[in-house]
Amino acid sequence: MNSPLALAEQVRCGTAVPQRRAIAKAITLLESTRTDHRAQADELLTALLPHTGQAFRLGLSGVPGVGKSTFIEALGLYLIALGHRVAVLTIDPSSSVSGGSILGDKTRMERLSVHEKAYIRPSPSSGTLGGVAEKTREAMLVCEAAGYDIVIVETVGVGQSETAVAGMTDMFVLMQLPNAGDDLQAIKKGVMELADLVAINKADLDPDAAVRAQAQITSALRLFTQHGRDRGQWMPQVLQLSALRNTGVDAFWAAVDRFRGIQAAEGRLQARRRQQALAWMWERIEAGLKQDFRQHPAVQALLPQLTVDVEAGRLPASTAARHLLAARTQAA
Ligand code: GDP
Repeated sequence: MNSPLALAEQVRCGTAVPQRRAIAKAITLLESTRTDHRAQADELLTALLPHTGQAFRLGLSGVPGVGKSTFIEALGLYLIALGHRVAVLTIDPSSSVSGGSILGDKTRMERLSVHEKAYIRPSPSSGTLGGVAEKTREAMLVCEAAGYDIVIVETVGVGQSETAVAGMTDMFVLMQLPNAGDDLQAIKKGVMELADLVAINKADLDPDAAVRAQAQITSALRLFTQHGRDRGQWMPQVLQLSALRNTGVDAFWAAVDRFRGIQAAEGRLQARRRQQALAWMWERIEAGLKQDFRQHPAVQALLPQLTVDVEAGRLPASTAARHLLAARTQAA
């Protein structure tokens, strides 16, 4: 194994094939759960960090089958033709729960995956959503340091994965089907609030429904964004697409560019990233504290009985929590 510093150098300055190998190695190191690997991974990330942050980070979410991979393939090839380098990362919490993945089989994005200007990495396949998201976030930094200037992070609408993706990207796009407008209730309100743009895909299948959905979702978004995050001059947009026929991709990218311009001019892009980095730090601290807490002998000694008591309704949950916290503090 190369030293982390040598690996960082290969990630940054390698040429085509050795660089891809270095990126893969770097990401594998970041995904490792071995304690000694974690120290090396931290060294690697610290070396790469000054060379990150130049890319645009685009988040994309939608239910399985909505057309995410078809669209990413079309968009990726379009961006490469414009001179960009594109990395695609996925967060698929289902892969760690069931061992099977909703998103990742190898046949997805056939043309993009073999393109020398693209790098595609499937979801880490173990760990909690927080852990999977952390690894994806770190993989994103590796890709940026390697010179990929557009990073797309894709997810399915499982659990809190959209929140995780919106929390690590500059712009969050929600992909919908043309019949989405008929049942707006089905779109989780929290997810709508996250969306900077909604793309209605498969508009070719039912153009009338797509027009209806566009109008309905546009007015729904107006309502949500009054309470949602502050986007300054940007009003979330709704666009129609056909990823399969490759229509609407240029209009989509024009909207992304507009968003990016407005946000950068108002200083919101950097502010969003600063806020994300701090939120991330606290999330990982909380996860780390919780893990330490669960593993502490004093907690482990009390936990089984208290769990039974709380489940049986003999002990209030808050009292049990206080006992456990006190036991941990006294033992410290
Ligand atoms: P994902 O699960 O969201 O990644 O969806 P896929 O990209 O795998 O697409 C699911 C199916 O929908 C595939 O059979 C695609 O060929 C098809 N599909 C994707 N985009 C379109 C579109 O714009 N129009 C039509 N008619 N079919 C599409």
